[in-house]
Amino acid sequence: MEVENLVIIGSGPAGYTAAIYAGRAQLKPIVFEGFEAGGVPGGQLMTTTDVENFPGFPEGIQGPHLMHQMRQQALRWNAKCITDDVVDVDFSQRPFRITAAEQVVYAHAVIICTGATAQRLHLLGEETFWNNGISACAICDGASPLFKGAEVAVVGGGDSAAEEALYLTKYARKVHLLVRRDRLRASKTMQDRLLNHHQIQVRWNCIPLSTHGDDVLRWIRVQDVPTGAVSELSVSGLFYAIGHTPNTQLFRGQLMLDEAGYIQTNGKSTATNIPGVWAAGDVQDHHYRQAITAAGTGCMAALEAERWLAEQPAGSILSAA
Ligand SMILES: Cc1cc2nc3c(=O)[nH]c(=O)nc-3n(C[C@H](O)[C@H](O)[C@H](O)COP(=O)(O)OP(=O)(O)OC[C@H]3O[C@@H](n4cnc5c(N)ncnc54)[C@H](O)[C@@H]3O)c2cc1C
Repeated sequence: MEVENLVIIGSGPAGYTAAIYAGRAQLKPIVFEGFEAGGVPGGQLMTTTDVENFPGFPEGIQGPHLMHQMRQQALRWNAKCITDDVVDVDFSQRPFRITAAEQVVYAHAVIICTGATAQRLHLLGEETFWNNGISACAICDGASPLFKGAEVAVVGGGDSAAEEALYLTKYARKVHLLVRRDRLRASKTMQDRLLNHHQIQVRWNCIPLSTHGDDVLRWIRVQDVPTGAVSELSVSGLFYAIGHTPNTQLFRGQLMLDEAGYIQTNGKSTATNIPGVWAAGDVQDHHYRQAITAAGTGCMAALEAERWLAEQPAGSILSAA
């Protein structure tokens, strides 16, 4: 049976960074890039246009181009990239068994980088205005000229929604927070900050129905839930802050996950509860959720995997090198 040193599952910034580091360490990593499970090969940045906050690109860089460059760099260091979904893993046996849609691979070590999926509302017009007014990340997109001095709306009632709304006040003139119920789930501190902010208007019992505009978003239809009354709200931005779903269905029952389904890692390390399995990027991080932090933890996971593999008994590893 052929056994690989390291399999990396996922091809966002975390997966490709792990592949670059592992490749340079001569581990010949196999990267399952995904196909249709949990996003697209290249990850979440494939669905955006300008990335303005990834260091090294003072003029910004298109998300798909950045991911293409990361992939090329991984290939240069002999990562083997396979565009296929992993459909099953077995971490109860060693070497680990990783089953993809079209093949089964055995490996001594695994780095999980399957990311998370931002929840969408699938409103009428959403596809048209995605990246042209609609976003799931204020920190990523809030500084866009589209929103400077404009009115924008944020959907959600939790801490993330509160954070997004507060962040957007740096750029937008006014932020409408659309809250489905008559109360917020956000912490008391966040609620106080929100409710006392002169640029934020909380619209209770309010849901968005549809989005409208020309080449960019201009207005949305909203509904008052108790009365059913529909009205129009002129906004240039609509930010979803209704949660993310970590792509961890595969790992349920095999790894320790937190209540929201994120993989639990050990303190400052990317180690999971199974020796030889690490997790990097958004799949284990519901706090920062940025490309650079995903890449950073991908680097950490590869370095940890390299050291762990080197510590294993002679002859039991590097079979693929
Ligand atoms: C619209 C949008 C704009 C954004 N803009 C910015 C920005 O400007 N700046 C910034 O820093 N961050 C931005 N982000 C956030 C950033 O994209 C994420 O933090 C980052 O991509 C997380 O990287 P990751 O590697 O953890 O996972 P992801 O990018 O989510 O990649 C996950 C990968 O796992 C693969 N996968 C999932 N399941 C499987 C499986 N079963 N088998 C094989 N592969 C699988 C997917 O195909 C994908 O390749 C944005 C996010 C979105 C949605």
